[in-house]
Amino acid sequence: MKSWDAIVVGAGIIGLSLAIELNKQGLRVLVVEKGEPGREASWAAGGMLADFPLETPLGLRELAAASARMYPEFVRELEDESGVKIDLRSVGTIVLTRVETGKSPATTQAYLLPRPLAELEPALRISNGTPRLTPMFVNERCVDPRDLTTAAIAASRRRGIDFSSGDQVLGVEVASGKAFGVRTNKTQFAAGIVVNCAGAWAGQIGSHPVPTRPVKGQMLCVAMPQKELVRHVIRTPDVYLIPRSDGRMLIGATVEEAGFDKQTVPETIQKLRQAAIDLVPKFAEARILEAWAGLRPGTPDGLPILGATPTPGYFVATGHFRDGILLAPVTAKVMGQMIAGERPELDLSAFAAARFRS
Ligand SMILES: Cc1cc2nc3c(=O)[nH]c(=O)nc-3n(C[C@H](O)[C@H](O)[C@H](O)COP(=O)(O)OP(=O)(O)OC[C@H]3O[C@@H](n4cnc5c(N)ncnc54)[C@H](O)[C@@H]3O)c2cc1C
Repeated sequence: MKSWDAIVVGAGIIGLSLAIELNKQGLRVLVVEKGEPGREASWAAGGMLADFPLETPLGLRELAAASARMYPEFVRELEDESGVKIDLRSVGTIVLTRVETGKSPATTQAYLLPRPLAELEPALRISNGTPRLTPMFVNERCVDPRDLTTAAIAASRRRGIDFSSGDQVLGVEVASGKAFGVRTNKTQFAAGIVVNCAGAWAGQIGSHPVPTRPVKGQMLCVAMPQKELVRHVIRTPDVYLIPRSDGRMLIGATVEEAGFDKQTVPETIQKLRQAAIDLVPKFAEARILEAWAGLRPGTPDGLPILGATPTPGYFVATGHFRDGILLAPVTAKVMGQMIAGERPELDLSAFAAARFRS
C-alpha cells in the first residue's frame, strides 16, 4: 500500500488550503475527494469575506478578523503558484440594516458612509417603507470562490500534492491506537496524519463522528445590464448582491434545512431575483446566467470544529457554515501549526470537537 505523511479528506477550499500548508511543512500529502475537487460548497459560495463585528458571532470574530487580514497575501500566493487570476475586490460592503427610527445605535457611527449613498451606488433604490433601512459602510473584501478553488487545485498539483478523486472515505483506519490511514469505497491509503475536511458530510466519517449538518443555500447569477452598475457588495436583511469584476452579479442566498438536497426551486430563485430588483430596479433587464444550490457545513452552535480527536493523528477542520471562504487562510494556518505539534497562534479551545461530547 502506497503511503503518505498526511491524508486530507475533502477537496473543498478548507481541505485544499490545509493540504498546501502541510506541503509547505515538507509533508507528502494526499487529498481524497468523493467527487470532483472544489465542486461542493466552495464552488457554490458567494465569496463575501464578511468580518463585520455587528453581524459576526462573538465567538468567531477573532478568527474572522485574522483571516480577513490574511486574504490579500493568501490570494497573491495562490495566483503566483497557479497562474490563475483570482477576482479579489476591495471596494467595500454597504450593509443596509433595520434600525428603529430615531434609535441609531452609537456603534453605527463607526461605519458611516464615506459619501452619500446616492453617490456611492446611484442605481440603488431604498424603499421608504417601514422599518427603515440604515446604510453602513464596512471595509470588507469579496472574492470569486471558483477562481480560488481552481487556483488552489492548480497550486496543489504543481506542489506535487496527490489527489484521489471519485474516492469516498468511509472511515479512518486505526492501528495501535493511532490514525493509520483511511478506508474508501475502493481502497485503502496509509498515513499517520488524517484530517477530516469533508464539509457538510464530515459527520459521516467515523471514528469520532462530528455533528455537522448540511444547510442549503440557493442563489443565482445575472449579467449586469452595464458593467459596474453596482460596485459594492450590498447586504440587506432579505438579499445580498456580490458584484464580479467581469460584469456578473451574484444574488443570494437562502438558508434552508433541507438535508442533502441540492435542487434549485424556480419560485425561490424568482423571489431572490425580485428582492434584487426591488433594490436595484435596473436588474429587471438583467439576464439570468445561472442558478444553483450548495450545502454549507453547519454545526449545532454555528461555530467551526477545529482540532484534534481522541485518536492521535486524526484531526477535524470543518463546520465553517457561512464563512468557510473567509476562514480558509486562518484555518490552514492554525491547523497546520496544531498538526506540526506547535501551539496555534490563536486560541482554538472554543472550536474543539470535544465541546459536543457529553
Ligand atoms: C449559497 C452559499 C453561499 C455562501 N457564501 C459564502 C460567502 O459569501 N462567504 C463565505 O466565507 N462562505 C460562504 N459560504 C460557505 C462556504 O461555501 C463554506 O463554508 C465552505 O465552502 C466550506 O468549505 P469546505 O471545504 O469545508 O466544504 P466543501 O467545499 O463542501 O468541501 C468538502 C469536500 O469534501 C468532499 N467529501 C465529503 N465527504 C467525503 C468523503 N467521505 N470522502 C471524500 N471526500 C468527501 C466533498 O465532496 C467536498 O468536495 C456559502 C455557502 C453557500 C452554499
